[in-house]
Amino acid sequence: MQYDHIVIRYGELGLKGRNRKIFTTQLAKNVRKVLRHFPAIKVDKLRDRMYIVLNGENPEPIMEICQKIFGIQNMSLAVKVANDPERIKEEALQLLRETENVQTFKVTTKRSNKEFPIGSQEFNQVLGGHLLVNTDDISVDVHHPDLEITVDIRAEATYLTSRKIPGAGGLPVGSSGKSLLLLSGGIDSPVAGYLTMKRGVQLEAIHFHSPPYTSERAKEKVVDLAEKLASYGHSVKIHVVPFTALQQKIHREIPHGYSMTVMRRMMMRISERVAERNGILSLVTGESLGQVASQTMESMHAINAVTNFPIIRPLVAMDKDEIISISEAIDMYDISIRPFEDCCTVFVPKQPKTKPRLEKVEQFEGNIAFDQDIEEILDTIETIEVEASDQSEQQVDDLL
Ligand code: ATP
Ligand code: MG
Repeated sequence: MQYDHIVIRYGELGLKGRNRKIFTTQLAKNVRKVLRHFPAIKVDKLRDRMYIVLNGENPEPIMEICQKIFGIQNMSLAVKVANDPERIKEEALQLLRETENVQTFKVTTKRSNKEFPIGSQEFNQVLGGHLLVNTDDISVDVHHPDLEITVDIRAEATYLTSRKIPGAGGLPVGSSGKSLLLLSGGIDSPVAGYLTMKRGVQLEAIHFHSPPYTSERAKEKVVDLAEKLASYGHSVKIHVVPFTALQQKIHREIPHGYSMTVMRRMMMRISERVAERNGILSLVTGESLGQVASQTMESMHAINAVTNFPIIRPLVAMDKDEIISISEAIDMYDISIRPFEDCCTVFVPKQPKTKPRLEKVEQFEGNIAFDQDIEEILDTIETIEVEASDQSEQQVDDLL
């Protein structure tokens, strides 16, 4: 069967008006970008769906790549036919004959083109009858058919489709603005980044490292995680923050029970400044309520009080095993569990306060001038632009 199109159906049909336009334009841009290795194809964006015109390309690898693009609800292979009942009958018959393991079928006609001479119900019967007469041992089952042939009669042509393949859902990356992800090398923050991207958010990342206490390998791990995130749509910039001097100062100057809270607050202050410089309006973290000392309600309160930025915490109510299963499903887990030193664990006190009090934190911080340290750090940030991982490029090559 010579399928010549892929029909892409959008998710979230509730999106209307201007939003819808932003959404579909962004989706088309993202689709074109990830399919740039297929120069022959053409992407046609319509108000209610998108077509990939295959122009002779093999649809299988294209469908596989599209399954990772957020904003696609589902897709189907399609054959484009002229709006001529006889031609539609011929093509539908061929489609039925060439699909394997079909004992039962059903025809569903959608006639949005009212100039087509036959009504939907009538055409179901006309076409169903034609298919029955011209095949052996195949019958109609309107409830659980092995094959549902959808006949979509539109103004410009008719599209015959069969199976619907689920897409990744969500919204197209880039349609919901930008966030700055606090990316450690752990399991949680990459998953938080992935879930935020799924809601259409484009990410930049910030990573705090403390050489020589944390190694180059720890940084490489973060780059590898960012590459994975980049494969969901956009390249990801990582702002690598040299954090050693500030951490040492906190360690020296702040009572140990409070040093972790203060360190987190410094991370927030620096992140907010980096976000502002890059036109970003929110932060994302991998915090999950109750997981560790820094993630109790009291800790979150004391840490959060240092910034007015919205902090997106997609994992806040998730169990660790739920987070791990997402991490595995998106192929991040093996990178996340590589051994490494995190800047936070290096200086973490033996007994951090699990219920820090905000007045105390502010009092301790107030006694020390941190502003200058923050300004100095901001001047020494290294920014790395990360494209989709070689591995995903490799996957494309393998598929080709
Ligand atoms: P993760 O698995 O993401 O490391 P975690 O369970 O280890 O999270 P914490 O160490 O308390 O939790 O960190 C909470 C959040 O703070 C992380 O999810 C991440 O968003 C941010 N964070 C922690 N360490 C760093 C770092 N070195 N650089 C950037 N962000 C960090
Ligand atoms: Mg961690």
